[in-house]
Amino acid sequence: MANAISNKVQVSTVRTLRSRTTVKIEFPPENSNAEGKVNILMQNSKIKGKKGVKTEKKLCLKNELLDTNKDSLETASKCKLEIPGVPQKSSISPRKRRQPKMEENKISKIKKEIKVENSENQVLADIEDSAWEPSNWKLVLDNILKMRKMYVAPVDSLGCEECPEEGATPEVFRYQTLISVMLSSQTRDQVTYAATQRLIEHGLNVDNILKTPDEKIGELIYPAGFWKSKIKYIKQTTQILKDKYDGDIPRTLKELCGLPGVGPKMANIVMSVAWNDTVGIAVDTHVHRISNRLGWVKKPTKDPEQTRKALESWLPKNQWRPINLTLVGFGQTVCKPVSPSCEVCLNNNICPFARSVLSGKNKKKVKK
Ligand code: SF4
Repeated sequence: MANAISNKVQVSTVRTLRSRTTVKIEFPPENSNAEGKVNILMQNSKIKGKKGVKTEKKLCLKNELLDTNKDSLETASKCKLEIPGVPQKSSISPRKRRQPKMEENKISKIKKEIKVENSENQVLADIEDSAWEPSNWKLVLDNILKMRKMYVAPVDSLGCEECPEEGATPEVFRYQTLISVMLSSQTRDQVTYAATQRLIEHGLNVDNILKTPDEKIGELIYPAGFWKSKIKYIKQTTQILKDKYDGDIPRTLKELCGLPGVGPKMANIVMSVAWNDTVGIAVDTHVHRISNRLGWVKKPTKDPEQTRKALESWLPKNQWRPINLTLVGFGQTVCKPVSPSCEVCLNNNICPFARSVLSGKNKKKVKK
């Protein structure tokens, strides 16, 4: 038997009888009616008295048995078929055919070098990132702290830290902290505080909330933002606390984030307030907005989660807990979402956002 020789055409059978070699040609189905010419390169054939390579052309049909005038299997292994409509095997010499492979090798070598270079660049970029911190941040923070003393913010007296009832057991304190943080999402501090106090009056503990009908919880927490969803989240979370955590709240950020309706910002606040264990910065819309205005992120960030990572990369850990309350209050009083009071802000000469506001680029955002 001989091997496949040309594209899509098989030399399947070779028989040699005396000086004749029979070659069976099989065409692929799509060329079932094809006919073509077979070039049979016959090594060892005698050309003018010498041994050499001779080409013999023959017409062939599907599955035809072709006789050649030569005498070895090697002969048949050199069959080459020319079939109309069938792409032929490359006529480029094997040596030349090797060239693309060499090119490929070169390309893959270059790619590897680029990869190494990229990873080295990444390492350098990481080192650069880890060394980065915004200029003047201590001065900016000092100025913000001074302004926080000048203006009273709702979060100072109505924030989640103020919500749990006095004298509660540690477990109940943690549960009430968690529930008030859940209520605070998309809700003003005044509304969160009032809703938590109504729940406390009703009895804000795991067993009592599990006994309370959804309608009653809705009455107590309304008009907190997304109050209907929050009824569901409070009930589901409380049931999980009862079943899985013996009525207490989870001890880790990851487990807290696994509770229905609890995101990374809430989990970080709960870790700080309920467990007195700060493992990350709680970034809400105020912290996100002000960090971008002040240039406290190396590149502008799109959401609070990106901002959290950016801040945690340079802000000293002892600032992780207080920075939330500091910036939330500052955002409620001075650096408001719309019309920030840049004219009275102590940072207006060093804040990049103020420069654009005061130069007229964001004039409409300046409070009149
Ligand atoms: S100058 Fe304006 S934008 Fe900058 S921190 Fe102060 S209030 Fe915010």
